[in-house]
Amino acid sequence: MGRTAGARTMPLPLPITEYRDLPVTVMGLGRFGGGLGAVKFLIDRGARVTVTDLRPQSQLAESLREFDARQLVRLQCGGHVEADFAEARLVVVNPAVKPDCPWLQHIREREIPRTSENNLFWHHNRGRVIGVTGSNGKSTTTALIAHLLRNAGRTVHLGGNIGGSLLSIVDTIQPTDWVVLELSSFQLADLNRIEASPEIAVVTNFAPNHLDWHSDLDDYRRAKQAILRWQAPSSTAVLNRDDPDVCRWTTLGRVWMFGHEASRADAASSQIVVTGTDLHIDDASVPTSTETISLSGQFPLPGEHNAMNVAAAICAVRAAGVNTEQITPALKTFQGLPHRLEHVATVDGRTFYNDSLATTPESAICALRAFPGRVLLLAGGYDKHVDLTTFASEAARRCFAIAWMGQTATQLRAMAAGVTESAPSQRITFSLREAFDWLWELSQPGDTILLSPACASFDWFLNFADRGEQFRECVHEKSRAIAESQPGPSHPTSPE
Ligand code: ADP
Repeated sequence: MGRTAGARTMPLPLPITEYRDLPVTVMGLGRFGGGLGAVKFLIDRGARVTVTDLRPQSQLAESLREFDARQLVRLQCGGHVEADFAEARLVVVNPAVKPDCPWLQHIREREIPRTSENNLFWHHNRGRVIGVTGSNGKSTTTALIAHLLRNAGRTVHLGGNIGGSLLSIVDTIQPTDWVVLELSSFQLADLNRIEASPEIAVVTNFAPNHLDWHSDLDDYRRAKQAILRWQAPSSTAVLNRDDPDVCRWTTLGRVWMFGHEASRADAASSQIVVTGTDLHIDDASVPTSTETISLSGQFPLPGEHNAMNVAAAICAVRAAGVNTEQITPALKTFQGLPHRLEHVATVDGRTFYNDSLATTPESAICALRAFPGRVLLLAGGYDKHVDLTTFASEAARRCFAIAWMGQTATQLRAMAAGVTESAPSQRITFSLREAFDWLWELSQPGDTILLSPACASFDWFLNFADRGEQFRECVHEKSRAIAESQPGPSHPTSPE
């Protein structure tokens, strides 16, 4: 990894506008679109593109099918080598590359400018940006903001961590369009390098996460705070007042706060107060008026946490100039996202929810709190070595029956033991099917059967989507079996 004689390059000023014949190395093609958008963008503009990735070619097949690899100058799979960077005058680094990767040091020493797919988009984008970050609820809030803006007649482009790369359409985005981006801490760490923050920045909440990538909690927080760091006085920050961390974050811009009644402040700043399922809007720019939006019957996603996501989204679209009359009808038609407390079906009076993406104890606790009636729970999974005690006690207090699954099943059962006198029925299960069938046998009409694992899925499943789809399939099979066993045309499954 030593320096090649005579190969030292002068840094190019960023942003670059002319890519024709520019030697660019994309470091990390990835399997989830992380580098793919950049590769296509650069090839389209005539750059001389090298792709280098740690994974072997076989694991990158899906991404490689998305473009003609013969257009590359060089494709290096299965690890980076010095030749990947020898000619490069720009390196596009995938957000998944860890900051301590020695090749980043190599790039620094050779003074090769680095960028990322997200930053390339940022340089070329002319639209107005709403960015959303947080530890939980990012995707739901981002999708809801886009939905509310579209229903108010705005042109919207949805991207970032949700929805994939917008680089391929960046030239078509107009200055009056809205770009709504879900931003991970990795993308924000990158954005910080070019000293950019969104015009409207939303922070849903903050809890320890991704500590395998960030050196410590402060580093994770600093990365997230980049969403506010470079805001102008005319920008807006939307912050969670109930979150003891986020409520102290600062910005040069205006602030909209959202939170529950207990944290209600004077109306000097704009705020949305959540009281049960009502949202009270105090817009400081219209100081004499308080508007109320009732979510009961208006918004299809259950749970207080979703009320907070709605509050965050409404703050953002108010800051973008949308008024209440345009917001209220659109709330009813928001479908939610798959695997996030997703209503699967109601079969023979039992309502099924798929919350496979609840891979943290916090999000699974939110799901449990969303259902006041009898809940039968499928939970547990891959052991990430996070503390599951609070989740196990909450589950023991709230559930009628629990089927524990995966690596964490035994410890979860032990943690849940003795929490309440009227302990739920519990069972350690050895497959999702067994868990499902056992709970079905115990259930009765009116019950909620909930998959909200609090754990990752990698022990029994390919990923969270595979887990959620298998659960859905169990529900649909049950529905079909009941339909076949009943005479006549009636169907026991309510429409999804
Ligand atoms: P993210 O994009 O931050 O992972 P999602 O909207 O995809 O968030 O939701 C992931 C999981 O977290 C789902 O189980 C969902 O029900 C739960 N969740 C959604 N919003 C919140 C919130 N505000 N607080 C806690 N959990 C949440």
